[in-house]
Amino acid sequence: MKKKNVLITGASRGIGRSIALRFAAGGYHVFLNCRASVADLYEVRDIIEKDHHTTCGIVPGDVGDPRDIARMFEQIYRSCDCLDVLVNNAGISYIGLLMDMGDDEWRRVIDTNLSSVFYCCRAAIPPMISRKSGRIINISSMWGNSGASCEAAYSASKAGVNGLTRALAKELAPSQIQVNAVACGVIDTDMNRQLTDEERQALEDEIPAGRYGTADEIAEVVWDIAHAPGYLTGQVIGVDGGI
Ligand code: NDP
Repeated sequence: MKKKNVLITGASRGIGRSIALRFAAGGYHVFLNCRASVADLYEVRDIIEKDHHTTCGIVPGDVGDPRDIARMFEQIYRSCDCLDVLVNNAGISYIGLLMDMGDDEWRRVIDTNLSSVFYCCRAAIPPMISRKSGRIINISSMWGNSGASCEAAYSASKAGVNGLTRALAKELAPSQIQVNAVACGVIDTDMNRQLTDEERQALEDEIPAGRYGTADEIAEVVWDIAHAPGYLTGQVIGVDGGI
């Protein structure tokens, strides 16, 4: 049987890496992307090929740069006609007062977290429409719903992802393409490594589940959404330990 194809952006570590391994375990051909830590992508590919006996493509590039996205999709469409699943996961955080934030830092957060979703969806959608099938899953954050102090740009970018998810789901529902987002709570990845022990403890105390989530838990939810009945669309699904 022909393998299904999935692209996961930001797959060199953290949540994206777990999602890549989950789809590889499920028999998908997996396209892996990141911008800087490309050597880590090759390590993920080695694990996938060794443990899951499936195939894997490496498509490096900056998801915030439309020229890189065009190059990535040229490469993808040389080896498959259409993605079955697009997971827009790549993202960066920025912690600091809004009044101290420079224009370039603002643009970098918005380009990486929000414009990237536009660029990747725009490139992935046309063959999905021709085939009348496809799944798009955007990795968002609980801060996109509630807003976080000292993370205004990040919160705005994820609120944008939530809005884009809901609107695009309506646009694509007649074409049998589902668009959903996962609003993660605090997940134990490098993104939170800069927190002090005290800050970490304070955050944990606020989480009813009493702990950070794991990247594997998010990957399992993404897998489930990708294989859920087609009536599930336009949703921003919280996975946050009940916070
Ligand atoms: P990590 O920092 O562990 O991983 C981020 C991944 O994105 C890396 O592979 C990184 O690779 C890649 N990336 C960053 N910038 C770019 C870029 N411009 N182009 C392509 N790839 C890029 O973060 P997480 O795994 O924690 O985060 C994954 C997603 O989950 C993000 O969207 C994040 O906002 C979201 N999220 C995370 C939460 C958490 O608590 N961890 C909570 C809520 C949401 P490289 O830098 O080498 O290019």
